[in-house]
Amino acid sequence: MLVADLHRSAVVRLLALASLLVGSPACSKVETSGPDAQGYTWRKDGVAVDKAGWRYHTTKDIFLHCGLEPNAQSCALSGVAGTFCDIWLPLGAPAWMIAHEEKHCEGWTHPGHLKKSDLR
Ligand SMILES: [Zn+2]
Repeated sequence: MLVADLHRSAVVRLLALASLLVGSPACSKVETSGPDAQGYTWRKDGVAVDKAGWRYHTTKDIFLHCGLEPNAQSCALSGVAGTFCDIWLPLGAPAWMIAHEEKHCEGWTHPGHLKKSDLR
């Protein structure tokens, strides 16, 4: 799994107004979720690409397209300022893998990547 967000800009949800209302110091918060069924903990700190810009590709040679991460089994690559998101999948990709890469296109990232030993 890999997200190569070449032009990443952090999406930080400022809670300035809320903090004014409750009188607490200004703070910022990044949305998180997980761990999911594959053990990933996600942070929404990337650019969300509109679904119209998602492009699905199936390839026999994942390394050719996802080679930045040596053990990647699939990947999502976002274009400049969220103009598109290319999802590269192996033949017969399981549903969770597709959903995983789609989540990257929605601006979510996670630390670490799936190891080959984790795949069945
Ligand atoms: Zn991933």
